[in-house]
Amino acid sequence: MACVSFPYDAPVSQTLFDRASLVTPGGVNSPVRAFKAVGGTPRFMVSGAGPYLTDADGREYVDLVCSWGPMILGHAHPEVVAAVQEAVARGTSFGTPGEGEVTLAEEIVARIAPVEQVRLVSSGTEATMSAIRLARGFTGRAKVVKFAGCYHGHVDALLAAAGSGLATFALPDTPGVTGAQTGDTVVLPYNDLDAVRAAFAAHPGDVACVITEASPGNMGVVPPGEGFNQGLKDLCAENGALYISDEVMTGFRTSRAGWYGIDGVAPDLMTFGKVMGGGFPAAAFGGRRDVMAHLAPEGPVYQAGTLSGNPVATAAGLAQLRLLDDAAYALVDAVSAEIRALVTGALTKEGVAHRVQTASNMFSVFFTADEVRDYDDAKKQEAFRFTAFFHSMLADGVYLPPSAFESWFVSTAHDDRAVERIAAALPAAARAAAEVTA
Ligand SMILES: *Cc1c(COP(=O)(O)O)cnc(C)c1O
Repeated sequence: MACVSFPYDAPVSQTLFDRASLVTPGGVNSPVRAFKAVGGTPRFMVSGAGPYLTDADGREYVDLVCSWGPMILGHAHPEVVAAVQEAVARGTSFGTPGEGEVTLAEEIVARIAPVEQVRLVSSGTEATMSAIRLARGFTGRAKVVKFAGCYHGHVDALLAAAGSGLATFALPDTPGVTGAQTGDTVVLPYNDLDAVRAAFAAHPGDVACVITEASPGNMGVVPPGEGFNQGLKDLCAENGALYISDEVMTGFRTSRAGWYGIDGVAPDLMTFGKVMGGGFPAAAFGGRRDVMAHLAPEGPVYQAGTLSGNPVATAAGLAQLRLLDDAAYALVDAVSAEIRALVTGALTKEGVAHRVQTASNMFSVFFTADEVRDYDDAKKQEAFRFTAFFHSMLADGVYLPPSAFESWFVSTAHDDRAVERIAAALPAAARAAAEVTA
């Protein structure tokens, strides 16, 4: 990494980061926003429009993070903004039921057949935390099976081998989570059904659920192998456990019905977030009616939230989902394919070993020649090449996720002009990746 320099060409961001670092740990409110993995100063953004972000120094970037997925229509989409303004003017929170949350729930249920009922929450973390509590309450069992490299939010019990945020900082585990909290968590290698079979055999009658990212994006994009999700579902059914598909990232992004719309494997419970909030804190978990009936106030499993189903967040989410028809997904898929081809072309030209892995319009670039099927494979890549690549792209006005272990995200707003700017930045970045030494 010694060969990568970080020119301070962002003095206002630097000043803001210095201020932030005094009053906020590490200067950021979510670790993945820091540039720890790639070095340098995180850019403070002041506005977004379509595929572009503008930072505090007045520089414009083509945004390939899209707020880590939610901004699938681009920034400040006029119809979403109008829906928010209309909702805000009517008041921002009532602490009572409201029509917006019913309509949003109806939209989710209509799109995703296995979701018969849904409960709205405010973050993906809350969604997975609540789904696991519900699975344990429903089955009366304790153990949760998860996969190394899958991230399900910062739920204590699930912060074991949890992918990018932790990979980025090379923390094998996090202090503050006790052995008791992860003691009922079984971590297995991804894409390995034999390991799941063995886990069920080792814990007969004890496994409440298997939770998996529908198609993982938090160790980079590592799609499930042929039959993996179906195998999980079958093993869960045979063993009386629930199959929980975490679609916080893939939901309403990879298709109208998320990853379920692609592989058709019906989970018992699903979790959603990111796209469904339209850039606001809205998330959800849902699934089988008989399982959801165990939730308070209908059933005994407690779950609640002061801002759950917030009228502004639900208005934003609903406006966004209503714009996400088949044509919109076709557009996102097409621009994703275009950008992937450009990246591969540039890296190939410079002889940089790499693999672009995709899950519908989600994709990431691994700096390795070998297929990445699990977290161990992902960690074998030459991440230092990404660092050089990242900084060159940033200097040329393309904002990539600041870690080699993340998905890149595009939107319906990524038009020809945005793609041309990416194409223009790629040759130098590919050269930087080729020339850098570890
Ligand atoms: C982002 C993410 C979460 C956590 O969602 P937050 O809203 O950040 O709490 C959970 N699961 C997956 C698969 C995610 O990508």
